[in-house]
Amino acid sequence: DDNLFTALRAAFPADLDATAIEAIAADGQSRHYSWRDLEQASARIANLLDSLQLPPRSRIAVQVEKSVEALLLYLATLRAGHVFLPLNTAYQSAEIEYFIANAEPAVVVCAPANFGWVSKIAFKAGTHAVFTLGEDTSGSLLERAAHHSDAHAPAASTADDLAAILYTSGTTGRSKGAMLSHGNLLSNAQVLKDYWGWRPGDVLIHALPIFHVHGLFVAIHGALLNGSKMIWFAKFDPAAVIARMRDATVFMGVPTLYVRMLADARLTREATQHMRLFISGSAPMLPETHQAWQQRTGHTILERYGMSETIMLTSNPCAAEAGERRPGTVGFALPGVQVRVLTDAGQAAAVDEIGNIQVRGPNVFSGYWRMPEKTAEEFTADGWFKTGDVGRFDALGYLSIVGRSKDLIISGGYNVYPAEVESFINEMAGVAESALVGVPHPDFGEVGVAVVVPKSGAEVQPQALLDALKGQLANFKIPKRCFVVPELPRNTMGKVQKNLLRAQYQELFG
Ligand code: ATP
Ligand code: MG
Repeated sequence: DDNLFTALRAAFPADLDATAIEAIAADGQSRHYSWRDLEQASARIANLLDSLQLPPRSRIAVQVEKSVEALLLYLATLRAGHVFLPLNTAYQSAEIEYFIANAEPAVVVCAPANFGWVSKIAFKAGTHAVFTLGEDTSGSLLERAAHHSDAHAPAASTADDLAAILYTSGTTGRSKGAMLSHGNLLSNAQVLKDYWGWRPGDVLIHALPIFHVHGLFVAIHGALLNGSKMIWFAKFDPAAVIARMRDATVFMGVPTLYVRMLADARLTREATQHMRLFISGSAPMLPETHQAWQQRTGHTILERYGMSETIMLTSNPCAAEAGERRPGTVGFALPGVQVRVLTDAGQAAAVDEIGNIQVRGPNVFSGYWRMPEKTAEEFTADGWFKTGDVGRFDALGYLSIVGRSKDLIISGGYNVYPAEVESFINEMAGVAESALVGVPHPDFGEVGVAVVVPKSGAEVQPQALLDALKGQLANFKIPKRCFVVPELPRNTMGKVQKNLLRAQYQELFG
């Protein structure tokens, strides 16, 4: 049996009364969940799902605020042999309508306050049951589950059986549902357990949303597969997270979380001295953030790379013997994962040569839900998945991401890689961060437009910035215009939404 839940359950510690999750409420109060609580409460929900007599592998769509109970619902779904389909809590009715019509879930679980409109959409799409789950354990899901037994035998599953459909972040366009199997998820979790050196006594601070690959799979599977306690925050609060680092060893975050903690003077060497490992991913981390973190805390952040379709692909080394953690890179292909960089002509790129990143391995998804053409387009004839990311390997085998192929700018026939130009802009005095996007231009086809955020209190002169770049980069790479803005548009995962910037400056040269 390859049910992922069975593997996670097998890793629970012998002492089931020990704390598995310490959930910190907004008022600072803790609520403790033992391993036995996880076992029994997920059994009750699994039995409730069983009682609905749904066909195997039914989709259970979930849009609720982050809570331990939402995690229990995930475990129960695996247990009952159904497919977990988490939805970003930011989505409103038009988006939910799309996802529910697209996914046709048998069960929908939503926030109590949304029951009216969500249930209307769901029943129209043929959903069998709609339950509610509030962040405070209120709602019909747990009320109904309470009547069921706290023992449950996991549904037999093969490695290829679907376990989850994870909608991508929608950074480049409409979200796609990545179909992930029990085998995809478990193989990746096992590789990461080894690679990141999870050890007895590790405690994870969990402060990420759980509708996304980072918080749901990388973080939760990591802790559960190691029998590690989690200190669980429903919302990220820099001061509260920093305060609990003395009781923890591992933290996972997107770059913006690190930036926000750096802005808090309580982040010190002493505050982080109990910690073993800081991991960053989901979006590029500025080398400056990496260095600032190292100077302030003495810890070197480990940056890794992955996506909804593949879970984790590459990682900077954890063990000192395996090499240094290089800022600006995402490290090496994980064991068992194959990563290649191909030129546009389809040849293997040379060392330091930029090309398209393709991957293969037991972690790679089987396709996009109900998008056979899109799926076929994104796989090569010999079974490699085209990530849509552009990057290069250095001589030591470290991979760097230079951008997404959709963000690449072709100006007067020359390729401009946004990340390269951005890194020069970010080095300039007074610049906090920047984004380079391509917009249509009558002569050059496309030209780069720089959107720059100044450091607080600093002033950036667009023309002076462009003039300074001219001494450093070839002319075709110099942005044609520069705009200074207070902040870049980001989605909930902290990713810069370049499609919005492109749309905003679309007509600039038209
Ligand atoms: P969509 O596919 O809907 O446009 P998305 O690609 O942002 O959205 P995700 O699957 O959440 O959706 O994100 C995966 C992408 O995030 C990767 O393809 C890559 O571009 C980016 N990414 C992840 N980790 C890193 C990293 N460490 N450095 C740079 N980019 C990263
Ligand atoms: Mg993507």
